[in-house]
Amino acid sequence: MYDDNNIFAKIIRGEMDSDKIYEDDKLIAIHDAYPTAPIHVLVIPKGKYISFHDFMENAAAEEIAHFFKTTKQIAEMLNLGDKGYRILANIGKTAGQTVFHMHLHILSGKTLQ
Ligand code: AMP
Repeated sequence: MYDDNNIFAKIIRGEMDSDKIYEDDKLIAIHDAYPTAPIHVLVIPKGKYISFHDFMENAAAEEIAHFFKTTKQIAEMLNLGDKGYRILANIGKTAGQTVFHMHLHILSGKTLQ
């Protein structure tokens, strides 16, 4: 069950501050508050999806395409096209998901193990 009070829902509604680098009508991208790499950005759809799994199952094809194309554009905006970057999603508590609103991590700026 999606919880409307999760941190990213509050950020999307403008009830909580964030370090936003991109926004359109379908998604936002913010700097992670507790970065694990010099560049650590979160790409977050505005729709109410608990996880990547939920997003892929229930979002419209256009929404999914827009999300991934824009993620690539955000990586370019950060000049990561040549440098390289990692995208990842933790899906579920056992995989390390801590915020239950779909998001992708973009990590870069150091050699990632
Ligand atoms: P995950 O563990 O995959 O669910 O990722 C959640 C991410 O959200 C973690 O990397 C946290 O550091 C990050 N985070 C938690 N609270 C905030 C916040 N208020 N603003 C930005 N990022 C946050």
